[in-house]
Amino acid sequence: MLNNGACRCSRGGACGPRSETEAPLSDNAARYVTIQKDPASFAVPPNLADYRAVCATFNWEAARAGLSGLPHGRGLNIAYEAVDRHAYGPRADRVALRCISKTGERRDVTYRELAASTNRFANGLRSLGVKAEDGVFVLLGRVPELYIAVLGALKMKCVVTPLFSAFGPEPIATRMEIGDARVLVTTEALYRRKVEALRGRLPKLEWVILVNAEEDGEGTRSWRKLTQAASDAFEIAPTDPQDTALLHFTSGTTGRPKGVIHVHEAVVTHYATGLYALDLHDNDRFWCTADPGWVTGTSYGVIAPLTHGVTNIVVEAEFDAPTWYGVLARERVTVWYTAPTAIRMMMKLGADALKDYDLSALRFAASVGEPLNAEAVVWGAEAFGLPFHDNWWQTETGGIMIANFASMDIKPGSMGRPLPGIEAGIVRRKADGGVEMVNTDQEGELALKSGWPSMMRGYLHEEARYRKCFAGEWYLTGDLARCDSDGYFWFVGRADDVIKSSGHLIGPFEVESALMEHPAVAEAAVIGKPDPIAGEIVKAFIALKLGFESSEPMRKELLGHARKRLGAAVAPKEIEFRANLPKTRSGKIMRRLLKARELGLPEGDLSTLESDER
Ligand code: ATP
Ligand code: MG
Repeated sequence: MLNNGACRCSRGGACGPRSETEAPLSDNAARYVTIQKDPASFAVPPNLADYRAVCATFNWEAARAGLSGLPHGRGLNIAYEAVDRHAYGPRADRVALRCISKTGERRDVTYRELAASTNRFANGLRSLGVKAEDGVFVLLGRVPELYIAVLGALKMKCVVTPLFSAFGPEPIATRMEIGDARVLVTTEALYRRKVEALRGRLPKLEWVILVNAEEDGEGTRSWRKLTQAASDAFEIAPTDPQDTALLHFTSGTTGRPKGVIHVHEAVVTHYATGLYALDLHDNDRFWCTADPGWVTGTSYGVIAPLTHGVTNIVVEAEFDAPTWYGVLARERVTVWYTAPTAIRMMMKLGADALKDYDLSALRFAASVGEPLNAEAVVWGAEAFGLPFHDNWWQTETGGIMIANFASMDIKPGSMGRPLPGIEAGIVRRKADGGVEMVNTDQEGELALKSGWPSMMRGYLHEEARYRKCFAGEWYLTGDLARCDSDGYFWFVGRADDVIKSSGHLIGPFEVESALMEHPAVAEAAVIGKPDPIAGEIVKAFIALKLGFESSEPMRKELLGHARKRLGAAVAPKEIEFRANLPKTRSGKIMRRLLKARELGLPEGDLSTLESDER
């Protein structure tokens, strides 16, 4: 199946790696054939058709014109842009949220209904004496009340933090302590299991609202009673675009999670990137698989699609291939935003698992969160008929910064190009605290010129750490990358993860991607292991696909494959097999944990650790 915008590669659709008999090349740019787009084949014209022209004239002031602003010039509020401006216009009866429960039941919420229910919730908060700037934490699965609570609290100008409902008691309490939670919205079961015992640690936590409690209890309020008693009319108070809106915690991949502050103005980035990076069009049915417990699930699982007035598909269930393929097919999803871990799990099962599903509605698929191996991009093109479009951003940036957008040719393994309004550069830090640009194709730190609306406004209670992120007008991301002569950016690794072996600087992503090309490999993570001669050697942890056995011959084969592919200096010297690799709840491989265990060092903050099978 080939959709509009699908791959039209010069290898006649077989856009896999070059064969081993072709010249040995050390980087993915050369190894993989560019997936070319044919503008004539787009049934839906892409929003960013002329990249150069849009970049040349783009400015954030003008981008804001795509939004409405609060009536009578009273400012800019995320919830108004996401809900109210559609609720009182021609989209009022369009489905805003289609929520699919774990048991497969659908619950539709139109824009008009979403406006009424968020108004009720905002009025409910007001009736409790909750005020602007109060911390509202939401600990719920992906159910309608999560979306209503987040948007309703934004209408009240509270500072909102959605948390993963799968977090244990300690990470929940720590985050609520740091974020001065005054309100918690959760379920009876989650409250009893995870919060009640620690409530003594949270003296500022005044109100606990339980979505499925029929009655108020000791120290708790029933959502039903609170919202039923409240009016469904609510006027959002004047909102300065610089008012704090969200407090998001980072994934904790490299250390203790940071509390990142975002303001209402961020909605301008959410809207513009929904337009350019995700190619949202008026009648789209959009599905972002991320949980709002991390920034992708809020910026793109709540805000961006609703600002565009599209139908946002919300799936309560966790990943399971038949469920996901069923959602894509049944809901006729047109734009899909997912993550490398899920894609690798799908690859593990093989493209055959897809054959009974009609995915012809799918027009665009994107991925974020971790480096997307070239192999996964071309697998998408083969299995789904359209490649996964990788994009890059961070909790700190609040929105997508670098992307493979719909109309552009894809170089598999590249993160894409900076979006309009974003200036990205590759820099080297200098001793005097400044930075210098490095040349094309050279590795350095990925930096962004400050000034886009969703840039973080601080790390909560960590002012010095925040300031250290900047060199003049450049924001330093902590990620290493390079930029090629076509302006495509290539991820090398996190600065913390780079390996120094016998004078070479080795980016883990290149090694992992090469290992992923072997048909037996489902997941790979590499670390630097101290070595008296080389300084560090490369050690790889590998999870095999179903049907492959970890054995000595397999280890040798993989070592040989990597050596042939990367050369002896860069290839791993050691391989260890694991059933699974440790990951954060947002699906990122925790290399620092693999390293700490390998070296017998303290494991550090594990509050975001998800799967952990040694
Ligand atoms: P912490 O900052 O607590 O260590 P984290 O950096 O994983 O956690 P997030 O803000 O969720 O927290 O993740 C952003 C990081 O994820 C980026 O800095 C980058 O390292 C990685 N990342 C995101 N998207 C991509 C991508 N497309 N390619 C490569 N890396 C990516
Ligand atoms: Mg980070």
